[in-house]
Amino acid sequence: MPNDLLTPTQLRSLSSLPSVDAVLSSDALTPFRERFRGDFLTRMVQEAVGDVRARLLRSGPEAIAAIPSAGEFAALVAVRLESRQLPLRRVLNLTGTITHTNLGRSLLPEPAIDAVRDAARFPSTLEYDLDAGERGHRDRLVEAALCRLTGAEAATVANNNAAAVLIALTVLAQGREIVVSRGELVEIGGSFRIPDVMRAAGARLREVGTTNRTHPRDYRDAVTEETGLLLKVHPSNYAIEGFTCSVELSELVAIGKELGAPVMEDLGSGALIDLRAWGLPAEPLVADRVAAGADLVSFSGDKLLGGPQAGILVGRQRIVSAIRTHPLMRALRACKLTYAALGATLDLYEREADLPSHLPMLRMMTRPLDEVRSCAESRVELWRRALPTDYRVQSEPCHSEVGSGAQPGTHLPSHAVTFSHPSLSPMQIAGLLRAQNPPVIARISDGRVWLDLRTALPDDLPLLDDAVTSALSGLTR
Ligand SMILES: *Cc1c(COP(=O)(O)O)cnc(C)c1O
Repeated sequence: MPNDLLTPTQLRSLSSLPSVDAVLSSDALTPFRERFRGDFLTRMVQEAVGDVRARLLRSGPEAIAAIPSAGEFAALVAVRLESRQLPLRRVLNLTGTITHTNLGRSLLPEPAIDAVRDAARFPSTLEYDLDAGERGHRDRLVEAALCRLTGAEAATVANNNAAAVLIALTVLAQGREIVVSRGELVEIGGSFRIPDVMRAAGARLREVGTTNRTHPRDYRDAVTEETGLLLKVHPSNYAIEGFTCSVELSELVAIGKELGAPVMEDLGSGALIDLRAWGLPAEPLVADRVAAGADLVSFSGDKLLGGPQAGILVGRQRIVSAIRTHPLMRALRACKLTYAALGATLDLYEREADLPSHLPMLRMMTRPLDEVRSCAESRVELWRRALPTDYRVQSEPCHSEVGSGAQPGTHLPSHAVTFSHPSLSPMQIAGLLRAQNPPVIARISDGRVWLDLRTALPDDLPLLDDAVTSALSGLTR
């Protein structure tokens, strides 16, 4: 803002702001001069002075009386330095969405965490074959387990499922047509839309059928010598109900065989084991799709599988080898931390009889409702005693979601604590909870704030109790 637009009072107050140098040399910053680089400290002081300056320019004469001295500025910067956080912060997920894409999806099982730590700290056999004493491909770290778990001939891993689909479509159908049902041209969370991925892979979309109904003859009629691939996509985040008809994978495989076109299915979430064993709704099993004859199946590592972010491709040896050696794969491959975590997670699937007690995501999904309810009820008792009485704190039934587009429409019965306040909006209450350390992430619905206890980790309950009581008693930690 040019000076002639400032009022004389504002000008006077700005000129009485202490200089950056005066703040930097204040006693309050002495202990930090050893711990932090000089230019970093200067930047922190500049930011603090800049913040106050901006506030002065926005406010009236009343703010001007309270311009901090150099020492007060230094104390403010010292507080900021003490409470400095790395950019990626842990939070308490009370949203009720189990694999929440914005909150990092799956939590890894302990053996996977150990494997990541070791891979990060030490040299490893990432691309080294110990028996032969020479270079080996990183896929060999997970391929055998993936083949045993899915019945496939071969397997490879990309950075995520979007990358897996991109490389698969590139290898199988670049410059050719991909036949896909109109009902499966899905968008998954904005930036991943099947038609766009096809274009990026250099393939042409050959849409068949209608939004609600696609028949075998629709595929049959569409196959020409231009066809590179018959693609099925699991509509992860929505379901069409009513007068519908789609072509089963096994039928599509028969058509592909007859007409000489490979068949791929993007399963999205995909399950390695039958979740009905724990009373959960059925999700397509990767092994079933392989057995039904799909030439290639893709799925995520961090959705229902409960492992690290990864895109897994299983299927025919010939196709997997072509994908593995394609130049684009170098750009889409997963890192050693992913292989470490995925290898350990798959190992659990293979050896562990009691999977829910070892896989955090499965543990959350299968937590008995009674346990969640009694956890919510004891929170209500505790929090009612600790919070100002004008908060309305209640224990209420609700529904959790699996999230990440896995099992759309599946709502797991759960229990929440809800908050409302006569003069604070739900947005304001949720904001107070987010301002804690760690931040508490809630859900707002029905004019209230909901904390769904299914997604709270039992070990985190003391942290949650502290965060909620200090947030809503007006303290921040
Ligand atoms: C989630 C999903 C993807 C994208 O997977 P990411 O692992 O997030 O890259 C692709 N296809 C389907 C059907 C999905 O559900």
